[in-house]
Amino acid sequence: MKICCLVKEVPDAAVEKRIDPETKRLDRSGEKNLNPFDTHAIEAAMQVKEGGAPVEEIVAVTMGPDSAVRALHKAVALGADRSVHLTDAALEGSDVAATGYALAKVLEKESPDLVLLGQQSDDGECYTIGAVVADHLKMPSLTQVIKMDAADGKLTCERQAEYGYDTVEVELPAVISVGDAINEPRYPSLKAIMGAKKKPLDSHGAGDVGIEPDRVGQSGSRTAVLELRPPPQKEAGEIIEDEDTNETVEKIVVWLDERKLI
Ligand SMILES: Cc1cc2nc3c(=O)[nH]c(=O)nc-3n(C[C@H](O)[C@H](O)[C@H](O)COP(=O)(O)OP(=O)(O)OC[C@H]3O[C@@H](n4cnc5c(N)ncnc54)[C@H](O)[C@@H]3O)c2cc1C
Repeated sequence: MKICCLVKEVPDAAVEKRIDPETKRLDRSGEKNLNPFDTHAIEAAMQVKEGGAPVEEIVAVTMGPDSAVRALHKAVALGADRSVHLTDAALEGSDVAATGYALAKVLEKESPDLVLLGQQSDDGECYTIGAVVADHLKMPSLTQVIKMDAADGKLTCERQAEYGYDTVEVELPAVISVGDAINEPRYPSLKAIMGAKKKPLDSHGAGDVGIEPDRVGQSGSRTAVLELRPPPQKEAGEIIEDEDTNETVEKIVVWLDERKLI
């Protein structure tokens, strides 16, 4: 069984999100990191392997600029056996549909039994790549999976929904987007960090995986950002001083009741 984990390099959470007014894209300069949501996907792959399923290899896959290699090194330090980097100037400016198409073309070449990915990226936060990739690969797709057992070529998954949990059995190959409640990702050991750069890393351009140039990049994207506005300023909160606790509680109850919150 081959597991491919989709991982993305994103601006570090401590860096304030900035939009480049010229390109209307996120300014991705500055400190970057492996998307924290993707560490849950790698951990889930490791747990499938350690749980006894016949996993031959775990492959980390990313699409991104040269710097995205660092995210691949982190993914390998966390347990992936090797990594694949899709990088090409033609891919720059791709929207979510074009990104999903491009990633699907790499995955077609890898032919995995299971594709795991994070629930969302920490920068774009589209929550969409899993469904787009699955559609191109014609594989079943599940989102918000918080428990996963692999046996006999099938996965039994629990997925979190607004009303509780769904238990779903899915045949492999499949694309599974994991929720961050699925596990507690391990910390990489110093040895793994040191050894990560020595693990195999394949780099592909768009043409190497059969990406049609008119389906990627800004011109191949079906969406365009037309306008950007900063979020509205938050109204100042109401502070209730606690001079008499009974009176304070009463005031809070009236406040909540007026807003139909209780
Ligand atoms: C008009 C337009 C132009 C854009 N131009 C650029 C650009 O030039 N450069 C740029 O970086 N972004 C660009 N973006 C943003 C880019 O399209 C999104 O980052 C991408 O579509 C993925 O969406 P997301 O990050 O919100 O993924 P989500 O759907 O929130 O991510 C879910 C999961 O998908 C996986 N994933 C997401 N992206 C990748 C990836 N690249 N490689 C591997 N796995 C991934 C991860 O596992 C992640 O946890 C642009 C967006 C638009 C609308």
